Amino acid sequence: LGDRLSGIFDGLTRRGNLSESDVNAALREVRRALIEADVSLEVVRGFIEQVRDRAVGAEVTKSVTPGQQVVKIVNDELVAVLGTEAAPLDLNATPPVAIMMVGLQGAGKTTATGKIAKRLKEKQNKKVLLASLDTRRPAAMEQLRVLGEQIDVDTLEIVQGQNPVEIAKRAQKEAKLGGYDVLFLDTAGRTHIDEELMAETAEIKAATNPHEVLLVADALTGQDAVNLARSFDERVSVTGIMLTRIDGDGRGGAALSMRAVTGKPIKLLGTGEKLEDLEDFHPSRVADRILGMGDIVSLVEKAADTVSQEEAAKMAKKMKKGVFDLDDLKNQLLQMKKMGGMGGLMGMMPGMGKMKKQLDGANFDEKIFDRQVAIIQSMTKKERATPALLNASRRKRIAAGSGTSVQDINKLIKMHRQMADMMKKMSKGKGGLAGMLGGM
Ligand code: GDP
Ligand code: MG
Repeated sequence: LGDRLSGIFDGLTRRGNLSESDVNAALREVRRALIEADVSLEVVRGFIEQVRDRAVGAEVTKSVTPGQQVVKIVNDELVAVLGTEAAPLDLNATPPVAIMMVGLQGAGKTTATGKIAKRLKEKQNKKVLLASLDTRRPAAMEQLRVLGEQIDVDTLEIVQGQNPVEIAKRAQKEAKLGGYDVLFLDTAGRTHIDEELMAETAEIKAATNPHEVLLVADALTGQDAVNLARSFDERVSVTGIMLTRIDGDGRGGAALSMRAVTGKPIKLLGTGEKLEDLEDFHPSRVADRILGMGDIVSLVEKAADTVSQEEAAKMAKKMKKGVFDLDDLKNQLLQMKKMGGMGGLMGMMPGMGKMKKQLDGANFDEKIFDRQVAIIQSMTKKERATPALLNASRRKRIAAGSGTSVQDINKLIKMHRQMADMMKKMSKGKGGLAGMLGGM
C-alpha cells in the first residue's frame, strides 16, 4: 500500500500546501487501508471527512511528497481518535473495587480476568478475589477456579443453584469481609447480542455498581464491532474496552470502530492464550497496524526533524560566536511556538530550566508568543541588531506600534539580555548549549 501511495505522487516535485486533489487521491488509498483493516464503514466515512478537513491546506514538509504528508496526518488523527493518553484500569475507589467483565461468549473474558488478576497481584501487590457469574455453561465456574489456582489468587466458593445477581452479591460480601482490594465479576456471555444477555448484564450491574465495566471483545470482530460496542455501552455504560486476540492476523480496525462510537478508552490488549499475554494499549502501535504505513510515517517525522535541525544548526553557528540579537530571539520564539511552547526546546536545554519556570509562572501562552513577536517586528533593523539603542523614547514608540505597553517591552528586553548572557557564557566554555546544538 505504501508503494501505491507514493507512486501516485512520483514525479511531483511541487512543494507548498496540500491541495484538495492531493488529499483526495491519498485519502482514496487510506480509505482502502481502513476497510482492509476491518474498520466499520460508518466509522471510516466519518474519519475520512475529519481528516480531509484537517489536511487540505496543510503544509508539506520539505523532501516528502503530498501523499506521504497526508499519510502522516491520517496517522496523527488516528492516534488522536484512539486516545493519546494511556488509560489504565481505575482502582481509585474504596476497596473492594469491583471490576465487571462483559462481552460475548468466547470473547476472552475469563482469560482476561486471569491475566489482569495476575498482573494486579504480582505488579501491584493487590489482594484479588475472582467470582464467576457464569451459570450458563456448567464448566465455566470450574474454569475460573483452575485459573485462580494457577496464579495463586482466591476464587469465590462455588455454590450451586444461585443466579448471577445472588452470586455477585455474595462475592461482594465475601470481598469486604476478606479484606480484598479488587473483586472481579466474570459474567456469562452469549454467542450474539440478545435481549436476555443485555438484561442479565444490566441487572448485575445495577445490583453491584462496579467501579469498572470492561467490555472484552475479539479484535477480529470486524464490522460487528460498532454494533457490539454501542449495544453494551448504551445498556450498561462501559468504562473501558479490552481487545483480545491481537496476536491473530486481524489488523485491529475494531479498536478504531469501538473507540469512535463509544468514546470509551481501549485500556488493555490480550496478545495470546497465556496468562502473561497482556499488554497496555499503545495508540501509535495500533494506528500503525491499522494503517500499515509505519514506514511512511517515520519518514515524514524524520523529514520534519531534519528541517528543524537545519534551523537549529544555523542558530548554533551564531551562538558559537556568542551572538544573539533580537532577530534571533524572534526566530526562537516562532520555533518554540511551533513546538508547542516552552516545554519543547527550552526544557531540553541545559541551564534553561530556571528561565522556563519563570516564563511558565508568568502564565505562558500562545498570545504571549504572538505579542513578543509583534514587539520585535515593531523595531527597526538597527534596533534588533543592537538592543542597547532602545532608550525610553524608542520603547514608547515600539509599544505604540505593537499595541503593547512599555512594561511589556522592558520584560522582553530583560528576557533577551538573560538569554544573550547565557549564550555568551556557554560559547566561551566548551560544550554547553552551543556545543550541544553544534553537534546536532
Ligand atoms: P469467555 O467466554 O469470554 O470467558 O472466553 P474465554 O476466556 O473462555 O476464552 C475463549 C478462548 O479464547 C480460550 O480458548 C482462550 O484461550 C482464547 N483466548 C482468550 N484471549 C486470547 C488472546 O488474547 N489470544 C488468543 N490467541 N486466544 C485467546
Ligand atoms: Mg467465560
